[in-house]
Amino acid sequence: MIDRYRVKPNQAINLAEWDADARGDFTRKAAGEAAVAKLNQELEHLQELLYAENRHKVLIVLQAMDTGGKDGVIRHVFDGVNPQGVKVASFKAPTPKELSHDYLWRIHQQTPATGEIVIFNRSHYEDVLVVRVHGLAPEEVWRRRYDQINAFERMLAEEGTTILKFYLHITKDEQKARLQSRLDDPEKRWKFSLGDLAERKRWPEYMHAYEDALSKTSTDWAPWYVVPANRKWYRNWVISTVIVDTLKAFDMRYPQPETLPDNLVIE
Ligand code: ATP
Ligand code: MG
Repeated sequence: MIDRYRVKPNQAINLAEWDADARGDFTRKAAGEAAVAKLNQELEHLQELLYAENRHKVLIVLQAMDTGGKDGVIRHVFDGVNPQGVKVASFKAPTPKELSHDYLWRIHQQTPATGEIVIFNRSHYEDVLVVRVHGLAPEEVWRRRYDQINAFERMLAEEGTTILKFYLHITKDEQKARLQSRLDDPEKRWKFSLGDLAERKRWPEYMHAYEDALSKTSTDWAPWYVVPANRKWYRNWVISTVIVDTLKAFDMRYPQPETLPDNLVIE
């Protein structure tokens, strides 16, 4: 079921053919929301266990066009988790210092330690997306990066990191509606940026860059999921399901408590 959203290695991707409005088997939104709430309880428990067991490292990559819902996923899917074991790393336009290093330098510093879940809000994929669309590096430079990224992620995986990557797929019409509601709602207006309109003009180039990235960098060790994201509750359901299924498969245990005397009395 969820597997239909997983990109197979080198699978040709035409995003126009991927239904951003999908709602899976849910006929009612309320049923979807209830399922998300239940998954959230499971995730809370599994994350606590991951932290206690201190054995696994989990990296979650979120990529999307502006208004795609990365912030909403972070707020809803991870609602209630223990902040000690979950970190968010947001990658904006690189600083001069970051630019003076290779593009993976700032990324590697934020990857998870044991017991941690790290969520990348944007990521090294910007270096084959915005960089490609805006020509911030010559083609021969960004072309090499797909293989470099696969090798980097493979190293992380071989060293014990579980990697899940989600592209939140919205339509251009949905983006229009979301940008408009940011303009209209005084409490959302702070999120509106004129720069988003400039990026919106390049929608087809971005789709093309995403299609290439998804196809070339979905691997057995770091798969991409194309998440239907026009409906926020379904988007949350898909992502929660993938994460909960992955953590369950770890078959985690609380650490063995130290052996205690039978007649222990706390005074
Ligand atoms: P977001 O747009 O992710 O919701 P935000 O609006 O708070 O977050 P922005 O200041 O818009 O943050 O920063 C994100 C911008 O940084 C995006 O336009 C993105 O393309 C750009 N960016 C991220 N990484 C890079 C990179 N490696 N090179 C160039 N630009 C980058
Ligand atoms: Mg922005």
